[in-house]
Amino acid sequence: MARLVIVSNRVASPKERAAKAGGLAVALREALGKRGGLWFGWSGETSADAPAKPKMMRSGPISYALQTLDTEDQRAHYAGYANGTLWPLCHYRLGLFAFRRSDWEGYRRVNATFARSLMPLLKPDDVVWVHDYHFIPLASELRALGFEGRIGYFHHIPWPTPEVFYSLPSHAALVQDLGQYDLVGLQTEHDVRALLTYISAEARGWIGPGGVVGLHNRRFRVAAYPIGIDAEAFVTDAKAAERSKDRKRLLASLAGRSLAVGVDRLDYSKGLPNKFNAFDNLLERYPEHRSRVTMMQIAPVSRGEVAEYQQLRRELEELAGHVNGRYAEFDWVPLRYLNKPFPRATLAAIYRTAKLGLVTPLRDGMNLVAKEYIAAQDPEDPGVLVLSRFAGAADELPGAVTVNPYDIEGMADVMNRALLMPIEERRERWRANMDNVVSNTIHDWCERFLEDLGAREDRAEESSGS
Ligand code: UDP
Repeated sequence: MARLVIVSNRVASPKERAAKAGGLAVALREALGKRGGLWFGWSGETSADAPAKPKMMRSGPISYALQTLDTEDQRAHYAGYANGTLWPLCHYRLGLFAFRRSDWEGYRRVNATFARSLMPLLKPDDVVWVHDYHFIPLASELRALGFEGRIGYFHHIPWPTPEVFYSLPSHAALVQDLGQYDLVGLQTEHDVRALLTYISAEARGWIGPGGVVGLHNRRFRVAAYPIGIDAEAFVTDAKAAERSKDRKRLLASLAGRSLAVGVDRLDYSKGLPNKFNAFDNLLERYPEHRSRVTMMQIAPVSRGEVAEYQQLRRELEELAGHVNGRYAEFDWVPLRYLNKPFPRATLAAIYRTAKLGLVTPLRDGMNLVAKEYIAAQDPEDPGVLVLSRFAGAADELPGAVTVNPYDIEGMADVMNRALLMPIEERRERWRANMDNVVSNTIHDWCERFLEDLGAREDRAEESSGS
């Protein structure tokens, strides 16, 4: 079986227990454990004279290699090009998008550094799986150093349509870099269409059946691999939550009121101000819900050093204060706004208690919270998922009630309808969603991608036996 090498910016610590690590970290660790493998990424440290070689660690069958970066290169790469340029671009936020040539150069330098540091650790028949927009040029850099084995790339965030993508001055170079992979995975068919349209219209590549692409004398494949969750773990946690202390505390605090929940990193892609405004509008136009429904928004701070994120935080504090000031009673606070993160078991208890799951991003690659909310429901009395049409998950969850997050009154109308939805319709919608959540888990996603990349045991054996 070919060895698997995973590259990602953050590497889940080998010591982190499964219950604490995210679903992706658990699935990748499992894939590495099965095949034996190497996880390569940033050490989380920077220095003015960063060593050329990575720090090595081992935990069972998995080796870890962690590269320290030059301080200025890391800034240009991470805060600059990855999160100041590519993140807003891929989330269709051109108003927040900035391009600096020095950041682009820093981004490329970090990819070159990573390739130089990884190359001596690679064996010719290794299968390399690169994760996310921080490392689009990594395959080019590895090829330049002579690596000829299979390399796959998965883009966890949306791929923008050509008209948006053209705003990026380095668009041609970035797509040329993608051509050095053997397999490029995107979240949705919509993303695949966007990239293929660019490739045929702008880059003059050809598109064959099954997403096979010919570009600059290379042939590779582009396909959709919608990411899933560890459904079983969420179902187990949610069932256990029935009798948990967290659940008892939560129910006591609600005093018989319905709960609507949102769980999002504090990021401008998540549409949080729109969601707060929609809740405000619900209470204004449907006064029968006053004192009867409580909204809880969990929003752990993310990229808190970046000005746009600080501005968003101030805006949300003001909006939350406005809603509560306007509608609170001496025994009811309409909007509970929390900036701290919660572990999976607590989230499961909160999801299971909530009559509404409010997932209303302005744009999102997939949105795992939507799937987690479904997995955590009581099949006999499930809550309703209110889901933005701009989340990748909207393609996957046909039972969700979809909204346009730019339409504040429309969202309030949908919240009202969802709060009043009869039990039969709730059950029917939940079943349609749950079928998808259990039939495409994070483990299935991982296996499918690796199978297509040609990393599966039977293929490796077939080729070695022929
Ligand atoms: N999450 C968590 N604790 C929190 C908030 C979020 O563990 O307090 C997890 C959540 O359960 C989900 C992930 O963070 O698995 C967020 O993934 P999603 O795809 O929804 O959004 P992203 O943050 O990747 O944009």
